[in-house]
Amino acid sequence: MINTVSMESLADIKRCCAFCGKELTGRSDKKFCDDMCRNNHAYQQGKFDNEVINRINKSLLYNRNILRSITRRGRKIVKKQILVDKDFDFNVITGLYKTHRHQEYMLLYDYAYRCINDEDVVVLKCYK
Ligand SMILES: [Zn+2]
Repeated sequence: MINTVSMESLADIKRCCAFCGKELTGRSDKKFCDDMCRNNHAYQQGKFDNEVINRINKSLLYNRNILRSITRRGRKIVKKQILVDKDFDFNVITGLYKTHRHQEYMLLYDYAYRCINDEDVVVLKCYK
């Protein structure tokens, strides 16, 4: 049996303010009670966005500093476990770089790394 929603039952669904949750009346495309709720919602959203961005930036810099503690110039091969022990976050990078040999490097600002096998990671400083 196919589930259908009639137009009447759609009209019965209560619409609520996206900020305070109060039931909305009036125009069907209305999302907020008033400008105050709209502004508060935008402020809260902006605050949340900033928190997310700050958390990611912090992880990126933390990772970059770990790579910097491994090599200040050139390349170095280290055990992946060293990165794991330092709480390196393998989920955040600033970019990807593929060499002509199809090796993929994870970029962290001016540093790059690549897992060369299950245990070893090559870390290198990209810019002098
Ligand atoms: Zn409201």
